[in-house]
Amino acid sequence: MSTTTVQQLIKMPAEVDENNPKKFVFPCDIGTDYTFKRDIVWKNVFGFIVLHLGAFYGLYLAFTEVKWLTVPYVWILIFITGEGVTAGAHRLYSHKSYKAALPFRIILLILQTMAGQNCMYIWVRDHRQHHKYSDTDADPHNSNRGFFFCHMGWLMSKKHPLVKEKGKTIDMSDLEADPWVMFQKKHYKTLYFIFALIIPVYFPVLFWNETLWNSFFTSYFLRYVTLLHITWTVNSIAHFYGTKPFDKNIVPVESKLVAIWGGGEGWHNYHHTFPWDYKASEFGAYLNATTALIDIMAYFDMAYDLKEAPASMVEKRSKRTGDGTHKAYGSSIKRNNNENVENAKDSALNGEFVQNYRTSMARG
Ligand SMILES: [Zn+2]
Ligand SMILES: [Zn+2]
Repeated sequence: MSTTTVQQLIKMPAEVDENNPKKFVFPCDIGTDYTFKRDIVWKNVFGFIVLHLGAFYGLYLAFTEVKWLTVPYVWILIFITGEGVTAGAHRLYSHKSYKAALPFRIILLILQTMAGQNCMYIWVRDHRQHHKYSDTDADPHNSNRGFFFCHMGWLMSKKHPLVKEKGKTIDMSDLEADPWVMFQKKHYKTLYFIFALIIPVYFPVLFWNETLWNSFFTSYFLRYVTLLHITWTVNSIAHFYGTKPFDKNIVPVESKLVAIWGGGEGWHNYHHTFPWDYKASEFGAYLNATTALIDIMAYFDMAYDLKEAPASMVEKRSKRTGDGTHKAYGSSIKRNNNENVENAKDSALNGEFVQNYRTSMARG
């Protein structure tokens, strides 16, 4: 049994196999079947091509045509709708890493609708599934299927049968009990039309006489596609390029770059190790706009019961399973590793000596 398997066995709950109640199926047993051929959903491919063409034209307009206020407006819109995803869909609804008062929850739901990344219910289900079955065939964006697949390819492919099957087992009872979330789910198309399209596009037209044409391509297409790519890098770059100071046996990594533009969601090795920590990082609000926002909301009693991993727990975990790149605890891991190597060398030499001794004794 590999270390990864042991690691995942410890962390992940087992599920009872329905056909054989005595047999347990562990998430890590699923793995990745590299021979599986994905079916492309051409309707979605076409949709993404249209979105990207619109975004490129919006970028051109942003440099040439639009009123100057439209540019900071689009940036602010990307930032605040991004918080609907990070503080809302991710840290509040998916992980329950803090609690939020109703007004803040409604604001987050509206911002998440403006971000246009599917309704809260589906976003959360996919994300919980991503954590439970990380980087296996039951993970909707299994990074073992390559960079493009986990970045955006998964949204243009038919789901793997295991994604469908295991998706039904994700506990969504908390969201099902939330009438606001279920209202958004029921009326998502209408709400998307109002909050992701009409309101963002008409705002610059009404307040600083931007043309409807310019606003359509910048406030909708450019703004929407930019945030999509920012969000997707958490699933792609932060599962590919970086260090693993907290758990070297999992795929997610620490990515400063993704943390900078992703509102603090790039500290992904930490996040997958302590998913219930509201900071999604060890460093509090450092390069973590979402933690800063939750802290501010906590000051106004709009956020409460903020869950955090205690420093001692982080230290223990880092020393036990980290890859030795942690600034404070890494050196001791390296020292241990070196000692282990020295010990191994010693025992190897001893073994060799004993072997030689035995051989010479046998030769007499
Ligand atoms: Zn992840
Ligand atoms: Zn997460």
